[in-house]
Amino acid sequence: MDTQEITTRSEEPPQWGDLHETNDDEPPPRWRASRRAPLWAQVPATQWEDWRWQLSHRLDSLEELSKVVNLTPDEVEGCRHHHFRVDITPYFASLIDPDDPNCPIRRQVIPTSQELVDYHGLYVDSLNEDAHSPVPGLVHRYPDRVLMLVTTQCASYCRYCTRSRIVGAPGAQFSRSDYDAQIDYIARTPQVRDVLLSGGDPLILPQKILEDLLRRLREIPHVEIVRIGSRVPVFLPQRITPELVAMLKRYHPLWMNIHFNHAREITPEVSEALARLADAGIPLGAQAVLLAGINDSADVMLELVHKLVRNRVRPYYLYQCDPVAGAGHFRTTVSKGIEIMESLRGHTSGYAIPTYVVDAPGGGGKIPLGPQYLLSQAPGKVVMRNFEGFITTYNEPNDYSGHTTARPENAAVAREAGQEGIAGLLRGKGDFIKPEGFDAAHQRLGSVRWEPFPAGLAGAVTAPPMQDGGEDNGSVMLATRQPRPHRFASPRGGTADRTALSEGKPAEPAGTLPDDRAGEVSEGMLRGARGTLRFRRPQGGHGSRGQEVG
Ligand code: SF4
Repeated sequence: MDTQEITTRSEEPPQWGDLHETNDDEPPPRWRASRRAPLWAQVPATQWEDWRWQLSHRLDSLEELSKVVNLTPDEVEGCRHHHFRVDITPYFASLIDPDDPNCPIRRQVIPTSQELVDYHGLYVDSLNEDAHSPVPGLVHRYPDRVLMLVTTQCASYCRYCTRSRIVGAPGAQFSRSDYDAQIDYIARTPQVRDVLLSGGDPLILPQKILEDLLRRLREIPHVEIVRIGSRVPVFLPQRITPELVAMLKRYHPLWMNIHFNHAREITPEVSEALARLADAGIPLGAQAVLLAGINDSADVMLELVHKLVRNRVRPYYLYQCDPVAGAGHFRTTVSKGIEIMESLRGHTSGYAIPTYVVDAPGGGGKIPLGPQYLLSQAPGKVVMRNFEGFITTYNEPNDYSGHTTARPENAAVAREAGQEGIAGLLRGKGDFIKPEGFDAAHQRLGSVRWEPFPAGLAGAVTAPPMQDGGEDNGSVMLATRQPRPHRFASPRGGTADRTALSEGKPAEPAGTLPDDRAGEVSEGMLRGARGTLRFRRPQGGHGSRGQEVG
């Protein structure tokens, strides 16, 4: 903190709110216009509007914060013992209501003692990004796109940061050789068509370095689009200078996704920065994190998405808060997110509605969630409801034959083998996906479990054989309705008389499974519900960059 600023304050410094835009008819909400906290009232505009000045005058200590905000004991405790970096630009700190501990701006950046509390289900790397990094700082989780972490630094630091494990250390930074390795990986991985630059915050990089990265990415023929994920327009709108925007504009198609959580973050400065970016032809999206006490309300979210759209920013994602260190008190229930989505869909324009996602702990990727609109279905008909509760049907065509399922030649690199998931099943790439360990769990005892049908039947029957404990296949039994004693291994390794089952009689008790083998997959689900198992990967799952479609 520059002590000169403190000593040059006027005798009667402006009070909080004095610098807000005023409206003759009605005073605007205090957060509507940008302002300066009294501490910086005398700073010349040329300095205040200089992003370098903002960065070099960030608040990073209890003493400095106390000059701007009336800290609560809980915040004092948080400032004394926090584990994650605190740094707040004077601009963003000025948006804080110094007397309201529940101010949504304040809660995002000032630590409290609650972030020191560990909780059940906490991860260091909740998205398992490190396991998906073929080279330092490059996360290749999805088939056709990569996340390129280009810096560990941000303009200010969010208390719930998903990447707090790697973000914020002042001396830790990616090196030129890390960038080389990232770009080399992308260049020799032709299915990568989309590169997302993130961090930390890419817009905090020196412009030359950022441009160099963009230029090198643009030289890779298969990279179709580049995206930048940033919170700089919110924490430091002064950084969105005409020079920076002119540079970005040279690397189209370039998209930008900006992290907004509350309508109060959209000040006149932010609107100006967004207009510059939009005028440069950069499509703008927004992502928000659902945060308890900050934006976990339909009204707050509606105000945010409307204000975003007015500023030509399309709400893109609403994230469930990730279970990382320091974020426990920010987490909401998932049902709160669904309730908010229920309050948006139909109640406002579709352009204003983000997709609500849970970024699956364990590295499962984004899972979209929302209210149920499909109520029921039968061949030829689906029954749905709308946002008002109006229930309707859609009669499906009975002559629909569908598009060809053959994939065009040029789509060959778009999908990586093993990541086709449910879409692969629908395209006929298999009939099932097995969770990891499924086969082992069902090898009860021994490998030969039952004797197949007698020879002679095979020519007449094409249906698959019965599974243990399953129902007889109707076509099989109709063709061969002769009680036949065929024997199969019981779970204990003995045999049971199948005739009894086909005649509808209770079978001899087959015995019980040994406790350590009984229904391991089902038990896995129960363990997930009980909390002893947090996630289950498909066999050959993403840890090995593949997923079996049987
Ligand atoms: S701006 Fe992004 S990376 Fe930086 S602290 Fe906030 S959430 Fe984390």
